[in-house]
Amino acid sequence: MNENHVYDMIIVGGGPGGYTSALYAARAGFDTIVLEKLSAGGQMSLTWQIDNYPGFENGID
Ligand SMILES: Cc1cc2nc3c(=O)[nH]c(=O)nc-3n(C[C@H](O)[C@H](O)[C@H](O)COP(=O)(O)OP(=O)(O)OC[C@H]3O[C@@H](n4cnc5c(N)ncnc54)[C@H](O)[C@@H]3O)c2cc1C
Repeated sequence: MNENHVYDMIIVGGGPGGYTSALYAARAGFDTIVLEKLSAGGQMSLTWQIDNYPGFENGID
């Protein structure tokens, strides 16, 4: 990360919401950065099984 770089969009939080926002921003051509204070993944990283994940009928770890 370059401290002097000017981004089009800064997204605070690297959970599913932040990643989805970043994905769409990047696809739209915006120079985008995600800032995460803990670790990537958000609340989902606190559990061993995720239910309701598209494409995985029985959940995914
Ligand atoms: C134990 C548990 C089990 C779950 N199981 C499921 C499941 O099976 N299926 C399902 O669909 N959902 C599940 N959920 C819910 C799912 O995890 C949340 O709905 C989802 O994570 C919300 O995403 P979000 O991006 O809105 O917020 P979050 O995941 O909360 O992400 C926000 C991120 O922002 C960061 N942040 C906050 N403030 C700052 C700051 N000032 N600077 C930088 N970063 C910051 C946080 O560290 C965090 O990583 C579960 C949640 C928990 C806690």
